[in-house]
Amino acid sequence: MAVVICRTGEPRAKDNSTAFIVERGTAGLSAGKKENKLGMRASETAEMIFDNCRIADANRIGEVGQGFKQSMKVLDGGRISIAALGLGIARGAYEAALQYSKERYQFDQPIASFQGISFKLADMATEIEAADLLIKQACDLKMRGLPMTKESAMAKYYSSEVAVRVSTDAVQIFGGYGYTKDFPVEKFYRDSKLCTIGEGTSEIQKLVISREVLK
Ligand SMILES: Cc1cc2nc3c(=O)[nH]c(=O)nc-3n(C[C@H](O)[C@H](O)[C@H](O)COP(=O)(O)OP(=O)(O)OC[C@H]3O[C@@H](n4cnc5c(N)ncnc54)[C@H](O)[C@@H]3O)c2cc1C
Repeated sequence: MAVVICRTGEPRAKDNSTAFIVERGTAGLSAGKKENKLGMRASETAEMIFDNCRIADANRIGEVGQGFKQSMKVLDGGRISIAALGLGIARGAYEAALQYSKERYQFDQPIASFQGISFKLADMATEIEAADLLIKQACDLKMRGLPMTKESAMAKYYSSEVAVRVSTDAVQIFGGYGYTKDFPVEKFYRDSKLCTIGEGTSEIQKLVISREVLK
């Protein structure tokens, strides 16, 4: 089963899209190629092909023309989930790098004793806590049923960029091992990038945030 939003009105008109439930096995619906992705490879992503696919009106979600508004509402909440996903990736990469920095010796000392490494860890820890607080703020507003468009976009934007920065630095801290599949950080590095793209790119989050602050 999939939820599909398609255009049901004139191009560029307001309120021109509608949401439907499309059941697996519907005539005209077929699966296209499975995408060969950079990361998030444990979660399959594939094309869906609609060819003369007729959907019963009973499968319509909400009113005709409300698809865009509905998806914007869903995205406010979905963005908190991607923010949390990014935070988890960042934490995993940071914890692996922190431990490795104490175990790996170079020039007769743990690499954590080099300021070049310890300052990276300080940045990672700080950004992770800031992302955590932004996510908690958005969650708190959502739980209380209050508007949180700006806060969820801020949490998603910041947390996903932190996931990319932290996992990149984690690979760096692991040195050559970071580039191999023997350690988890190369996976965090590849997986993190989706967070800045899915549920709206970082550029789109900035668009949402700037619209809210300029209101
Ligand atoms: C693994 C994966 C899973 C996905 N799963 C789903 C899913 O389950 N459901 C779903 O609906 N979608 C899903 N998506 C789609 C995803 O939400 C979109 O890829 C994403 O929102 C970006 O849209 P786009 O690919 O059309 O990029 P485009 O809109 O073509 O953007 C290309 C570039 O232009 C920039 N850009 C576009 N418009 C503007 C603007 N107005 N101002 C400034 N910059 C702009 C973007 O930021 C980006 O850098 C998935 C994508 C991936 C990679």
